[in-house]
Amino acid sequence: MGPDADAYSPVLDLAAVRARAWLGTLATRPVPPGADADALLPALRSALGQQPCTPEHAVAELVDLVEPGLMAVPSSRFFGWVMGGTLPAALAADWLVSAWDQNAGLRYATPGVVAAEEAVAGCLLDLLGLPAGAEVGFVTGATMANTTCLAAARHAVLARAGWDVERDGLQGAPRVRVLVGAERHTAIDLSLRYLGLGAGEVVAADAQGRLRADALEQALGAGDGPTIVCLQAGNLHSGAFDPIAAAVSAARRHGAWVHVDGAFGLWAAASQRLRPLVSGLGTADSWATDAHKTLNTPYDCGIAVVADPAALHAAMGISASYLVADAVGDPLDRTPELSRRARGVPLWAALRTLGRDGVAGLVEGFVDAAQQFAHAAAAIEEVEMLNDVVYTQVCVAVGDDERTRAVVRHVLEAGQVWMSGSRWAGRQVMRMSVSNWSTGPADIELAVEALRAAVAATRA
Ligand SMILES: *Cc1c(COP(=O)(O)O)cnc(C)c1O
Repeated sequence: MGPDADAYSPVLDLAAVRARAWLGTLATRPVPPGADADALLPALRSALGQQPCTPEHAVAELVDLVEPGLMAVPSSRFFGWVMGGTLPAALAADWLVSAWDQNAGLRYATPGVVAAEEAVAGCLLDLLGLPAGAEVGFVTGATMANTTCLAAARHAVLARAGWDVERDGLQGAPRVRVLVGAERHTAIDLSLRYLGLGAGEVVAADAQGRLRADALEQALGAGDGPTIVCLQAGNLHSGAFDPIAAAVSAARRHGAWVHVDGAFGLWAAASQRLRPLVSGLGTADSWATDAHKTLNTPYDCGIAVVADPAALHAAMGISASYLVADAVGDPLDRTPELSRRARGVPLWAALRTLGRDGVAGLVEGFVDAAQQFAHAAAAIEEVEMLNDVVYTQVCVAVGDDERTRAVVRHVLEAGQVWMSGSRWAGRQVMRMSVSNWSTGPADIELAVEALRAAVAATRA
């Protein structure tokens, strides 16, 4: 009768032990993986051809075969891309999400987790200074959050032009202009592609990668019809923020919808000190962000926020005879998915454990650490600081492109810290991002020493 709890206990205990062992290595292990996917694949593939086994055997084998290829992303010494670690409460809550196995699409069916997500939604709107009546959808990440928001935008701007895109599609529709900054994240391009809106019209950016308000004004004046403006809060390389207030007021004069991609930058709004970076934020129409980056929840946790609930429902809502709709609306009317995990639940745990001030403290701590690194790195001979460090990102170069590449290689081979190589503004760069709750001043000192050693080792 029913699954016996004892069927789960041995394998869950084993998973907890193995997870704790992995977490226990983070303080000292090299950050890069010890094996690549090609090396790991044969054993993983051949195990799938073996006789069935117990759950404990399967999970132990999985850990043995996968662990050599794990990057220490949750390490306090990981500064790659913009990835973020995992808060202890969020990790534990994420385990429960899987154990509970709730399909979080319907209020009626899974009220516990839906209520937790609704509580999170209200808390986030308040924390980030977004309109209280906005609707929140929990999606896989910022790419889908951007897509969800832009689907609502597509609906709204076409409806104002007398076109029903949900009924009639895009064929024969008035052309939708989408204006994007020169340094938008490529996820915006992907979202526009999913939505059949084509490539955006590029608006010039300044040296920090911020969309130029005067260039936007000019672009808006050069055309008409249904228009969407995509802004960015948090540039991948510089951490810079587009001038949101000026961009929104220009867009308003032209009747355009304003969307803000704030995958990691939107969290600046949680801090009194950093809020000036996102001045005007609450006056936009939609916002996309990630909890799995700056807020340090596990993957996957993106958040789509749309000020006009009707626009979001028109784009994402469904009705079907077998679903039991709730009068106040259901989660599945706010996201592309029908069935999905209750990904807002780890977010509830993160917000509960941090508290309001804790969220601000977390983000401010990242910025302080990035500035500590920038300050010390700038003092290393030959290191060139490329950005104004206003947020969590630091971009440096050492001599020419070839030298900078060699420095990045040296840092990664040493394995003490991880930072990404990239290209920015026509140059090879090394980029560091502070996004982990457990990073402290000693980790930053290690990062500075790793850079110093790499610069010295690559000196001709
Ligand atoms: C990371 C990022 C994205 C994409 O987010 P995912 O969670 O990886 O889908 C989009 N925009 C910006 C600015 C980002 O930093």
